[in-house]
Amino acid sequence: MRDRRSSGVGAGIGGLAAAVGLRAAGWDVTVLERDADTRGAGAGISLWSNGLRALDLLGVGDTIRAHGPLTGQGGIRTGTGRWLSRSSGERLHTDNDLGVLILHRAELHSCLLAALPRGAVRTGATVVDVEQTDSSATVIHRTEHAGQQRLTAALVVVADGVRSRVRAAILPRAGAPAYAGFTAWRGVTGDRCALPRQSESWGRGAVFGLTQLPDGRVYWFATANERPGGRHADERAEVLRRFGSWHPPIGEIVRSTDPEAVLRHDIYSHPRPLAEFTLGRVALLGDAAHAVTPNLGQGGGLALEDAVVLASELAGDGPVSRALARYDAARRPRAERISALSQRIGRLAQAENPILTTLRDTLVALTPSTVSARSLARTAAWRPPSPGPGGSGPMRQDDAS
Ligand SMILES: Cc1cc2nc3c(=O)[nH]c(=O)nc-3n(C[C@H](O)[C@H](O)[C@H](O)COP(=O)(O)OP(=O)(O)OC[C@H]3O[C@@H](n4cnc5c(N)ncnc54)[C@H](O)[C@@H]3O)c2cc1C
Repeated sequence: MRDRRSSGVGAGIGGLAAAVGLRAAGWDVTVLERDADTRGAGAGISLWSNGLRALDLLGVGDTIRAHGPLTGQGGIRTGTGRWLSRSSGERLHTDNDLGVLILHRAELHSCLLAALPRGAVRTGATVVDVEQTDSSATVIHRTEHAGQQRLTAALVVVADGVRSRVRAAILPRAGAPAYAGFTAWRGVTGDRCALPRQSESWGRGAVFGLTQLPDGRVYWFATANERPGGRHADERAEVLRRFGSWHPPIGEIVRSTDPEAVLRHDIYSHPRPLAEFTLGRVALLGDAAHAVTPNLGQGGGLALEDAVVLASELAGDGPVSRALARYDAARRPRAERISALSQRIGRLAQAENPILTTLRDTLVALTPSTVSARSLARTAAWRPPSPGPGGSGPMRQDDAS
């Protein structure tokens, strides 16, 4: 009988989603996670229609949708609060079949975890390398108690994030991710706060975003052009120093956030996704394969798409190598397009030059919201392969972006 054991590296959004999909496709999965828990970082995440469709195929779409309504009621403002553009949530849904659900990352993680059997994820296991033969792949990992261990399977799914150690080990020529030129802070208010409309405010070399979580708290993020590696003892104070004088309710929202819970990450991405997403019996997915800047809010969605496509291709009894070749061919062009688009938007949003920012703001103000909605809709128009994990079928990617 064919070996259908799979080992996963990393229990982030992509690794967990791949494990759920592969199980549905008849694989026996074990996921190794470096951290001691799998809660996911403590901030929000936006899931667009494409990510939600992928979650539907993984069987958890309804659970995720139950967290709250789709939104879309948003807009772009200047740092002083002048609206440059506003979008109607209803129009996004009805005219463009487009919606976005904002929820806490921990909820997405726990929903994916709950779809796996107990013991499928082993925490506190740091993967250091993968070795392969023609018929199997072995994950070499370390745990605090047992030291170095080996786990052999027919397939290895590498989803250990943007700084993927395994990618560096097995594809040394792939190169390291590049600093995108800006750093990001994220936080969630401790209490409920009413936010009439979600917004992204663009200044000079800085952006501040506000979104309502379904439970009434507010998820915010801020970005600023900075050299990488800078850190402050009190990151919340640093956010207030930079953004406290921007329009209300930014200062109030940041002050309502526990200073200990403010996250800061320098943004790294692959300016070009890898030349191949697979190597022998190893498939890379999510940020390990194609970290994109966060400007489109699509990194997690792409990881979910990868997971369902991979599971769908591996559902049949054909050779793993052919399934992985089809996965690679299906995913690379889309990741490349989203990556390039995200970088373009990032350059615009993080522009610093005063002439350029005035031009940018004028352009945004003059662009009808229907045009921006259509562009977003094209990005989120991805449809999962049919009929999905557990059955084989032709791939369908209605992506016009
Ligand atoms: C500021 C910011 C805002 C964002 N906002 C959004 C958004 O709104 N919507 C969206 O869709 N995306 C968003 N993203 C992108 C999204 O977070 C990522 O694309 C997504 O988390 C990628 O998932 P992943 O599973 O590939 O990697 P990760 O989520 O990074 O998970 C990798 C996992 O692997 C583990 N790991 C690492 N190394 C090892 C090892 N050696 N051995 C074992 N385990 C290991 C890690 O502990 C982690 O659990 C944002 C990103 C940033 C930085």
